Amino acid sequence: MAQEDLFKKIVAHAKEYGFVFPSSEIYDGLSAVYDYGQNGVELKNNIKRYWWAAMTQLHENIVGIDSAIFMHPTIWKASGHVDAFNDPLIDNRDSKKRYRADVLIEDEIAKYDEKIDKEVAKAAKKFGDSFDEKLYRETNPRVLEHKAKRDELHARFAEAMEKMDLEGLRQIILDYGIVCPISGTKNWTEVRQFNLMFSTEMGSTADGAMKVYLRPETAQGIFVNFLNVQKTGRMRIPFGIAQIGKAFRNEIVARQFIFRMREFEQMEMQFFVRPGEELEWFAKWKETRLKWHKALGLGDAKYRFHDHEKLAHYANAATDIEFLMPFGFKEVEGIHSRTDFDLGNHEKFSGKKIQYFDPELNKSYTPYVIETSIGVDRMFLSIFASSYEEEQLENGETRVVLHLPAPLAPVKAAVMPLVRKDGLPDKAREIINMLRFDYNVQYDEKDSIGKRYRRQDAVGTPFCITVDHQTLEDNTVTVRHRDTMEQSRVAIDELPAILNKEVSMTELLKKLL
Ligand code: ATP
Repeated sequence: MAQEDLFKKIVAHAKEYGFVFPSSEIYDGLSAVYDYGQNGVELKNNIKRYWWAAMTQLHENIVGIDSAIFMHPTIWKASGHVDAFNDPLIDNRDSKKRYRADVLIEDEIAKYDEKIDKEVAKAAKKFGDSFDEKLYRETNPRVLEHKAKRDELHARFAEAMEKMDLEGLRQIILDYGIVCPISGTKNWTEVRQFNLMFSTEMGSTADGAMKVYLRPETAQGIFVNFLNVQKTGRMRIPFGIAQIGKAFRNEIVARQFIFRMREFEQMEMQFFVRPGEELEWFAKWKETRLKWHKALGLGDAKYRFHDHEKLAHYANAATDIEFLMPFGFKEVEGIHSRTDFDLGNHEKFSGKKIQYFDPELNKSYTPYVIETSIGVDRMFLSIFASSYEEEQLENGETRVVLHLPAPLAPVKAAVMPLVRKDGLPDKAREIINMLRFDYNVQYDEKDSIGKRYRRQDAVGTPFCITVDHQTLEDNTVTVRHRDTMEQSRVAIDELPAILNKEVSMTELLKKLL
């Protein structure tokens, strides 16, 4: 199946099974805003629980906070967002569509990379086992030609972005003949800066009202609470502060479902270290975060690091963890070494001393910061998309199954009486009452057993537990496994242990130590 078709199916499946709905749907929706349904909210909460426990429970020196969305507007001056949180936008006069100029150019660069990869794949097929990919990439004239063009374009692009040279960006688009994907024309407007922050007014009277922003990241809530947490928690460097919360960005181009939203949720952790030790901690956090992703078992080959060539002026190292989505490798998490930029600027703008006295060094300093920042919704999409399968069965039928990591599945087990009589529903309810305090379990009695199994497969329920007449005689049930579809007869007493082994968050977290 083409990746584009697959992605459409995934979006449709998310809606049909109560995971993700377009916001305000009965009013024809609101662009790039989505609601999570009855299954979606469970999956999302489980992702957050996994991150929160991994960060706070498993690290003695990391604590959490929950700061407000509204913050003093000067915070966004200090952080640089008022002046520099801009995207360069460009319109196509024929299609009336708006694009990010940098994204149009990045897509053009990616085309050269694709051409190179195609050459390499062709040669690999031709030469078989004797193929030396590294040598081919370094010497093949066609590959080198593409690479030279790519590097030239990249250098021009990097320079224009560095200087935020808007005319320069436009000239690149014209020189490389980049066309609008909708109209196919090069009828472009000028490139303009567009600030991504939403603003609103706080206060009741027009003249007394203050312009406030909806936070575009949760991180600043952590920075401005640095001293509060450090002092009240008697935290000693190195230590971290974690937070999960909503963030808002008025994205110019909202595409790809919940990948790029205008209201989304972030899980961020700022780790405060001694100046000079930040790159060591940056390397540690890269490793720790990748391990967290890989423990979910979605496939190690689906992850890669993308180290930033062009660093923000305040950063001295930055990387993205990219995940193979149906539309290619895309960023799900950023890890940044942000130096003392944020705390230093808040000290300057607030006029309050924000320093840490290090008892071991017997001196005060502004701590350096390593940030790990991951989008809940992008994480949701990566898990959801890679779990989706249309499986061909031996009997010729197809089943749609979500192979969600079991500890994250919305429903852990469905308990089903084979028939709706003879006391089987009561027995099923007894089992539910035994399990419901530890797990989200569901009672399901409608339709044939086969149909019920399919329904649970489609929402990713790891276990189906069927109660039949034999259950009344010997207290055993049939347990059916989502992925293998294998069934086994087990005693009801064994159910908690069976479930615990596969669906408990504890087992998942143990993989991280
Ligand atoms: P991009 O380059 O894709 O716009 P970014 O580099 O601006 O992302 P960060 O500012 O580093 O993103 O934010 C950290 C994380 O927050 C990202 O890795 C992503 O998972 C998430 N995120 C950022 N913007 C959005 C958005 N508009 N919708 C959903 N998630 C987002």
